[in-house]
Amino acid sequence: MEDFDVAVVGYGPTGATLAHLLGQCGLKVLVLERESAAYHLPRAIHFDAEVMRVLQWIGVAEDIEPLTALHPGMRFVDGEGHLLLDWPRPQGIGPLGWRANYRFHQPDLERLLRDRMAGLPNVDIRTRCDLFLVEDKGEHVALRYEDMRVGKVVRTQAKYVVGCDGARSLIRRFIETGMEDLGFHERWLVIDTILNKPKPELGEHSIQYCVPDRPATYVRGPGLRRRWEITVAPDEDSFAVTRPDKVWELLSPWLKPEEAELERAAVYVFHSLVAQEWRRGRLFLAGDSCHQTPPFMGQGMCAGIRDAANLYWKLALVCQGKADESLLDSYESERRPNAHEYIATAVRLGGLINTCGTEQALRAALPAANGMAMMESIAPPLGPGIGTGGKAGLLFGQPRMADGRLMDDLYRHRFVVVADADLAAGLTLPEGVALVTTQMCPDAAGHLLRLGARAVVLRPDRYTLGSADTQEELRALMAQILPAPIALHEPEML
Ligand SMILES: Cc1cc2nc3c(=O)[nH]c(=O)nc-3n(C[C@H](O)[C@H](O)[C@H](O)COP(=O)(O)OP(=O)(O)OC[C@H]3O[C@@H](n4cnc5c(N)ncnc54)[C@H](O)[C@@H]3O)c2cc1C
Repeated sequence: MEDFDVAVVGYGPTGATLAHLLGQCGLKVLVLERESAAYHLPRAIHFDAEVMRVLQWIGVAEDIEPLTALHPGMRFVDGEGHLLLDWPRPQGIGPLGWRANYRFHQPDLERLLRDRMAGLPNVDIRTRCDLFLVEDKGEHVALRYEDMRVGKVVRTQAKYVVGCDGARSLIRRFIETGMEDLGFHERWLVIDTILNKPKPELGEHSIQYCVPDRPATYVRGPGLRRRWEITVAPDEDSFAVTRPDKVWELLSPWLKPEEAELERAAVYVFHSLVAQEWRRGRLFLAGDSCHQTPPFMGQGMCAGIRDAANLYWKLALVCQGKADESLLDSYESERRPNAHEYIATAVRLGGLINTCGTEQALRAALPAANGMAMMESIAPPLGPGIGTGGKAGLLFGQPRMADGRLMDDLYRHRFVVVADADLAAGLTLPEGVALVTTQMCPDAAGHLLRLGARAVVLRPDRYTLGSADTQEELRALMAQILPAPIALHEPEML
């Protein structure tokens, strides 16, 4: 029987990202996807610099960038149009090597991820294949799926299975986890339009209309795409509000029918849920299967891509026999609190939009708006996991090397020591670990300064394992770089 290192269930953005990263590390990967094509309707419209950095590792950042729109920030207004809060977002290239925020069209990204997969022969993509059974046998997982192209049930096996199978996850049922409910469940009408010609008065900002009767959000998408998300009242029928006449009535404060085409109008129930368990034995969850958020922070897909970036290198090391299986325990302990915090912030924000929040309340809900508008990221740190000290589990920036290249382009999938040149003098590194000093990369000095450390050890996902201010501390930190040397296989195509 065929035998895979990892079976990824679901080929949405989380599954595609994970399959790319595992594939780049040389693992034998199976992707099972029920549908024949990517979900064609727009969902996510925003991603952040951390996600762009992961797309850089995959090799699609330069392709998606021209298809994005920049985002000056978010404004909150009341029913009379008075500005309650202006939340500008940083402009220009930030410390991660990319802009803080991008507006995009999710089908564009999914197409690029799928096209790029052709370069990874060790990743086997099987669409129209519906998984219906997994059995953790201790040494491996047995899978059974229906290949709907030929109506045949197929048995296969993998060392690990990751359920990137969305909100109605089958793998979540096999894990038998409960979901923590953060209390937000609302129907919102999502209307995507394509303008017939530019309409500058709509503006570049995202706007939250804090109007108690009908809270709404406006988002400027790339090109001529514009989105409105509007609450559906409890007594309104979900079907009736999606009828074109009703949709145009709701859009009338901003748009006339002759100004745009309706791409779609659909009612979604936005939830705020986090799975209590993200792993059981050889089964894992990632993406919407283990967390669902209201879209006010634009972070649902971003969280799934962060899950993939956290999990891939741990699975790669374990599958390659370079790390103990216990490393995999850190996936849930690190990722769950981070995803939880984003959702809690989105719920707070949603509550305020609904209740016509005051400027003070809005500022309290949005710590990053509180005089820290130039912060690169509102990202909470990882939960407890591998690494030690107060400076473990923080996302490190991406310095530019002296020749202009970004650090991750040189040292993809590897542990990296970034150190002050004096501190690094005479240092012997474990095999496979890269060294970036402030001498070879002057730009690194500012990144170290920002963290308040003379040296850091970075994991392959570019979170810090910890920091050091002396050679002794650095040696002790390097000793934590897992017992086996880290030298993940980088295929030639990179
Ligand atoms: C209106 C709206 C706006 C949003 N805005 C944003 C935003 O601005 N920014 C952001 O980051 N996120 C946003 N999101 C959230 C984002 O779209 C989702 O979080 C993201 O698409 C989830 O990706 P995923 O890969 O985890 O799951 P999905 O995209 O749902 O993919 C799961 C896949 O698994 C497949 N599958 C399921 N079960 C099986 C099975 N048994 N066998 C085989 N295949 C199976 C499904 O067919 C599907 O293709 C928004 C969502 C909505 C609805």
